[in-house]
Amino acid sequence: MIEVRSLTKSFGALEVLRGIDLNLDKGHVLVIIGPSGSGKTTLLRCMNALEMPSSGSIVIGKARLSFEPGLKPRRSDVLALRKQSGMVFQSYHLFPHMTAVQNVMEGQITVKKRPKEEARAKAMALLAKVGLGDKGEAYPHQLSGGQQQRVGIARAMSIDPELLLFDEPTSALDPELVRDVLKVIRQLAAEGRTMMIVTHEMKFAREVADRIILMDEGAIIEEGPPEQLFNKPQQERTRQFLSMLE
Ligand code: ADP
Repeated sequence: MIEVRSLTKSFGALEVLRGIDLNLDKGHVLVIIGPSGSGKTTLLRCMNALEMPSSGSIVIGKARLSFEPGLKPRRSDVLALRKQSGMVFQSYHLFPHMTAVQNVMEGQITVKKRPKEEARAKAMALLAKVGLGDKGEAYPHQLSGGQQQRVGIARAMSIDPELLLFDEPTSALDPELVRDVLKVIRQLAAEGRTMMIVTHEMKFAREVADRIILMDEGAIIEEGPPEQLFNKPQQERTRQFLSMLE
């Protein structure tokens, strides 16, 4: 259902993604690990066309986008790709002047063209789902980081995307707030949501992933089920990365 082919991305002379190929089946969870600066966030942002790849192609469900140097993809194709993927950001990125419920309504109204009352009902249901049924009228500054991130997750789900993208969803949180956010993501995995997750939480990665990829210097170094990658890594660089974490 999700297919990435020969994806590259350069910022000026800096080649950040050097030909990424991956597939992800519906209902599966792919976790991306790797050292800082290896291109994990850039890959995730490319999946949502927040960053325009330099070359290669991305398919998510019915949306298909190809990139060639010097050629701008069609706006309608970019929007189609964005409708298929919902992004959860490291630093939440909620609108500060909107309540939780308004934050979760916004994309439904602008992207999905849903009537306001329908969007509100769906937003309330999603907030309840992430354990914030009583916080709909709160503004982001009245919420803890963990609560804000759960609003971010509700927002990502609000447009019914095929794919959910999580960019280090817990790394800005105090340790005691991490648990509630991971619990929500675990629940989504159990429900069969298709997800790509960049994380440094290795225990969580092992538990939630169907497959893990290790990236280094813009390339996929190793890919496999969590037991294999953590217990029997095939590549020296994977061993090095894992040993640094101990
Ligand atoms: P990771 O998520 O693995 O830490 P990133 O994808 O954030 O890696 O970054 C990969 C590399 O791309 C880094 O060297 C980073 O400095 C560079 N980079 C990321 N975004 C930009 C940008 N907008 N402009 C220039 N360089 C960038």
